[in-house]
Amino acid sequence: MTAYEPVIGLEVHAQMRSRTKLFCGCPTDYGAPPNTHTCPVCLALPGALPVPNAKAIELAVQAGLALECDVASHSVFARKNYFYPDLPKGYQISQFELPLNGKGHLDIEVDGETKRIGITRIHVEEDAAKNIHGSGASAVTLVDFNRGGTPLVEIVSDPDLRSAEEAEAYLRKLRDILMFIGVNDGNLEEGSFRCDANVSIRPVGQEEFGTRAELKNINSFRFVKKAIEHEIARQEGVLQNGGTVVQETRTWSEGQGKTISMRSKEEAHDYRYFPDPDLPPVAVSEERIEALRAALPELPAAKRERWQRELGVTDYDAGVLSGHPEIAKYFEQATRLFVEQSGKKGKDAGKKVANFVQAEVLRHVTTDGLAASFPVAPGAIAELLGAVEEGTINGKIAKKVFAVMVETGSAPNVIIEEQGLAQVTDTGAIEEEIRRILDASPSQVAQYKDGKTNVIGYFVGQVMKATKGAANPKAVNEILLRLLDEQ
Ligand code: ADP
Ligand code: MG
Ligand code: ZN
Repeated sequence: MTAYEPVIGLEVHAQMRSRTKLFCGCPTDYGAPPNTHTCPVCLALPGALPVPNAKAIELAVQAGLALECDVASHSVFARKNYFYPDLPKGYQISQFELPLNGKGHLDIEVDGETKRIGITRIHVEEDAAKNIHGSGASAVTLVDFNRGGTPLVEIVSDPDLRSAEEAEAYLRKLRDILMFIGVNDGNLEEGSFRCDANVSIRPVGQEEFGTRAELKNINSFRFVKKAIEHEIARQEGVLQNGGTVVQETRTWSEGQGKTISMRSKEEAHDYRYFPDPDLPPVAVSEERIEALRAALPELPAAKRERWQRELGVTDYDAGVLSGHPEIAKYFEQATRLFVEQSGKKGKDAGKKVANFVQAEVLRHVTTDGLAASFPVAPGAIAELLGAVEEGTINGKIAKKVFAVMVETGSAPNVIIEEQGLAQVTDTGAIEEEIRRILDASPSQVAQYKDGKTNVIGYFVGQVMKATKGAANPKAVNEILLRLLDEQ
C-alpha cells in the first residue's frame, strides 16, 4: 500500500482592530442591531467613493513586520469581481498583484521541534456583509451589512505544513502574535479570525504536489484539526480505491463529522482582478515602516525566552503565561512588585510568581478576546508571596489565604491577621505543644528511641494538626529533635 504525505497551506482572514471600516467611517463593533453601521460607501450607493483608513493600513504593516515579511512601500488595491448578495458593489476591494506584505515566515513547535513555515503574502481587504439564512416554510435570506467593509488582513502560508497538528500549532501561534500586537482580538467565535485550509496528499518521496481541496471558513482550532484529519483520510481513500482527487471547495460539517463538497473547479469564479481606479496606490514610507517596527511590543516567543533566561521561569510555565497578552502583563506586573517589595533577585522572584500564577491564579481567570478578568490584582499576589518570603505564612497556608482573597477580595495581610494564620514562630508556644504531644504518645517515643526515626513524621503531623498548619516547620523540627533526645 502506498504511503502518503499530507501537504497543507492555510489562508487566514483576520479582522483588524480598527474602530472604523476600511473605506468609510462606519464603526466596526460586533453585535450591533443589523444594518445600523452602514453608509452610502459600504452599501455601494451610486456615486459613493472609498477613502482608505490609514490606521488599518498601519495595523496591516505591523502584522507584516511581526511575521518578518518584506513590507512594500508601494502596494495597490484591486477589485475582485463576483456576484453575491453580501457584496453590494459586485466586487470586493482586495490586493492582488502588489500586496502590502510579501514573503515572511513563522516558526512553530511541534513535538519539541521547531519548524519554519513560509508566509507567501499578507494583503489588506474588506470583509463581505453577512447573509442570514432563514429556515422553515417562509424561509428568506436576510443581509446584515454591518460587517461589510470591515478591514481584514489575509495571511497566506506556503504549502509547508505536513500534518493537522502542525496546522493547529501554526494557527494558534499566528493568533497569539496578532493579539499581542493588538491587530486582532483573537475571537474565533465572533468570526474575527477565520481559516481556509488547503489540503492535498502525495506519495511519500514524490516532489510534485497532489491536487488540493480547499476547506472553507473553519472557525475553531478543534474543527480545523478534525477537518484536516478527515480530509487527509478521505483523499487517501479516494487514491487507494484507484480514483483521483478533484480540485474543489469543501466545507466541514461538524454534525456529520466529515467534509462535504461545495463546488468544483469548473464552478470556480473567475475574479477578473484589476487595479481599483477609485483608489490611489498605497504609499508607506520607509521611515514610517521603521517607526511602526520600533513601536511593536515584545512578541510572545521573545517573552517566553526572556522569562526563562532572566526570571528563571520553566519553559512550560513561560509557555502558559505567554498565551494571552493580559496574562503576560499580569505576570510581569506581579513579578515587578514582588521584586520591589521583597528585594529578591528577578530569577528567584519570577520563578515563584510564575509558579503561583500558573498553578493557582489561572484557574480563576477568564478571557474574552483581548480582555481578561483576574480574581485579584497582581499587587495582592506580590503581597501574598511576600508574606511567605518573610516566613509569616508557609506555602500551604498561602493557598488557603489566596482562596479567601478570591472569595472576599480582602488583602492577604488582613486575612492572615483576622484568621490568625501567621506561623507560630513563638518557640515557647511550639515547645509547649510538642511536650504535650510527646507526653500523649509514649509508644511512638519508644519507637524513636529504638531507632525508628521515621516516627518524626508522625510527630510533625501532630504538631501541624494542633497548630492548624501554622507552626513554622523549621522551628518544629529543631525543637522536636531536641526534646526527643532529652526523653
Ligand atoms: P487560491 O487563492 O486560489 O486559493 P493560491 O494559489 O494562492 O490560491 O493558494 C492558496 C493556498 O493554497 C496557499 O496557502 C498555498 O500554500 C496552498 N496550496 C497551494 N497548492 C497546494 C497544494 N497542492 N496542496 C496544499 N496546499 C496548497
Ligand atoms: Mg484560496
Ligand atoms: Zn459605511
